[in-house]
Amino acid sequence: MQILPYRFEGEVVRGFGRGGKELGCPTANMDDSVIQNLPESLQVGVYYGTAILEGEKYSMAMSIGWNPQYQNEKKTVEIHLIDYAGGDFYGKRLSAVIIGFIREMKSFGSLGELKSAIAKDIEVARRETVDQNKL
Ligand code: ADP
Ligand code: MG
Repeated sequence: MQILPYRFEGEVVRGFGRGGKELGCPTANMDDSVIQNLPESLQVGVYYGTAILEGEKYSMAMSIGWNPQYQNEKKTVEIHLIDYAGGDFYGKRLSAVIIGFIREMKSFGSLGELKSAIAKDIEVARRETVDQNKL
């Protein structure tokens, strides 16, 4: 995908407040400016990359999806910081680089299948970003 790596910065906003933490995978939802500036060619799906929060760098697994709150006409950008162990960081700025594509979005038959897909995404993100984090 020619558009990658893609860099952006934005503010962490509140999402539905459901889903993420219950699945053991909180996702920091990015503000509208990030969503509006996304290149058209960045398709909906799951990506990996790195993100910086308050000067600390993390590997990230990220999704670009359709927001059901807006009749699926607006996108969402949600970031899971891997190995982040602190508390909530709503309202903070996050800068990130999307490095690669992991998979397309799909609906899963069960919560268990969704959870194992997320676990795999995180493994891929962790593995693919090892070198970046050493730099
Ligand atoms: P929301 O629907 O408001 O996005 P989530 O259940 O997805 O709620 O939780 C996201 C929030 O959890 C983030 O905005 C952040 O403040 C917090 N958080 C804690 N740990 C992480 C993490 N490892 N990755 C992303 N967000 C995290
Ligand atoms: Mg979220």
